[in-house]
Amino acid sequence: MDPVAYRITFPQPGAHLIHVRLELFATGEICQLWMPAWSPGSYVIREYARNIRTIAAHVADSPREIRKLAKDRFELATRPGERLVVDYTVYAHDLSVRTAHHDASHAYLHPPQLFLVPEGHAGPFRVAVELLPGWSGVSLAADPARQERRSPGHFEVDLPDLDALFDTPIEAGQLSVTNLPTPCEHVRLAVWGEPFPDFVLPRLARVVDQVERFWPARPYDHYTFLVHAAVGARGGLEHLAGSVLGVEPESWAPAARRVQAGNLDRDDDSEGGVYDLLELASHELFHAWNVKRLRPRALGPFDYGRENYTRELWIAEGFTSYYDGLLVLRSGEISVKAHLQRLAESIGRLRDTPGRLVQSLEESSFDAWVKLYRPQDDSPNASVSYYLKGSLVALLLDLWLRELRPRGSGLDGVLAELWRRGPGSRDTRGPATENTYSCPGFTVEDLEQVLGDHSGLGEVPGAVRALWSKPIDLDFAPLAQLGLRLSEKPVQPGLIDLGFTVQDRAGSAWVEFVRTDSPAERAGLASGDELLAARRIDGNWLRLRSARAARVWDHLQPGAPAELLISRRERVLTLPIAFAAARGAPQIERIDDADPAARARFEAWSGRRWSDP
Ligand SMILES: [Zn+2]
Repeated sequence: MDPVAYRITFPQPGAHLIHVRLELFATGEICQLWMPAWSPGSYVIREYARNIRTIAAHVADSPREIRKLAKDRFELATRPGERLVVDYTVYAHDLSVRTAHHDASHAYLHPPQLFLVPEGHAGPFRVAVELLPGWSGVSLAADPARQERRSPGHFEVDLPDLDALFDTPIEAGQLSVTNLPTPCEHVRLAVWGEPFPDFVLPRLARVVDQVERFWPARPYDHYTFLVHAAVGARGGLEHLAGSVLGVEPESWAPAARRVQAGNLDRDDDSEGGVYDLLELASHELFHAWNVKRLRPRALGPFDYGRENYTRELWIAEGFTSYYDGLLVLRSGEISVKAHLQRLAESIGRLRDTPGRLVQSLEESSFDAWVKLYRPQDDSPNASVSYYLKGSLVALLLDLWLRELRPRGSGLDGVLAELWRRGPGSRDTRGPATENTYSCPGFTVEDLEQVLGDHSGLGEVPGAVRALWSKPIDLDFAPLAQLGLRLSEKPVQPGLIDLGFTVQDRAGSAWVEFVRTDSPAERAGLASGDELLAARRIDGNWLRLRSARAARVWDHLQPGAPAELLISRRERVLTLPIAFAAARGAPQIERIDDADPAARARFEAWSGRRWSDP
């Protein structure tokens, strides 16, 4: 079959318009063109076709009428065999890992936002990019040597099928491209934006190696990290043979300064941004197994036109979030102390999310399309993140298995077994996605079966199943078997718990979110209120501004009557309130007199020595 060909040009970088020319040979009397509504890995309807600004078609130099049938669908009358050319422009000015972005410095070609596809055409596709001076091109193709072609001013990639087309972003711009050092030369790093610090490369390679050795086999021959290193860039998105990472260059600046100064002693204070980067890369790479190949049944082959509901995102994202940090720990690239601190912070975030007692992990997964990805002012009260709670449930499952089978491999072994039963039985290397998506995905029942087998109990007890099926609180007492203790840091006496979060708007303090059942909610405070002043009932009014809000709160005492002066819809109100006392942040420490068995379990779990800093 002739490939459907796209030619991409950039005559209007200042307008952020990407020009696409689609050429195809018509096969029938009618040709319909459609565009995806969402991107796999990012579970919200984005209606990408709304970014199409102009569209026109012609056949052999004469214009051909094109009708719009729906928000994401066009139609043309054709004669079989005639060569049809469709020119359209796409607005691309949202710098994220799941939207296209174009300015004079680069073009990030996010496929679901760019490619109108003829209905019924399943491949092959050819994408040619006419580069601006000084630019080069890179894609996330599975086999770059065979699929990518380069000549001066030109970059081209061949994609065999529809899923490969939508799963293979292209970056065009001033790029720095390098391969990771041994043993990860098969991993390519392409960076747009600020220079990537060299000292991170061997550290990233150790993390990649750790992730690859976690799984029974590597499902790709080549892997590409495409990095957007720019202020405001954030997040990551997984693909079959690579991932896109958004990182803030300022985040690694403290570590870079330390290395530049010749100081090789890593300290957690300067390393935070590097830890974030390594965990992000670890997370997206882990997805090359968990989600892209070992996937919930609903996630591939995809229906690109509407929501693809699944109750299993807590496995896809939660387990991946658990292992992204744990595998960085096992690689030796984060201190034990910093890892435990991050774990404690996650526990604290869950504790401060009232929605954990409203929504189960399965519900959170199912409703991702309308809740997690579309937050509103009651979100923390009504819902829980399947990333956050899912990662902590993964920890508890790991601890549960390690307690029942101290010599076993815990949750690691469960994932390896799920892999062997499913995608591990097929060859999913290479450009075609056929093998990947013809292998059926798993369900929560499949996970339960393997958990039952690995626990030695034969089945999963109801109390364990409740971790994901019920909106229950989590109990972290099992950390003790690793010689770890969860406690709360002592708080300064007299510190109040606000019960709401504050957003700065041009120096003014505005209420963002009010926690359910808090004194603030009972006092009638609402999101969108502007905070003007506060006072103890017997004290002076103190003006509230973002910059000095903390000093004002310091004047108030837990349990003591106070008042807030607020502005709501341009009317000024006084709200009586008595704040609660602040709670200490969770912390996880190694128990000094932990017995040798617990220390040994800690070392098996963490891959680190008990005495490591
Ligand atoms: Zn993820």
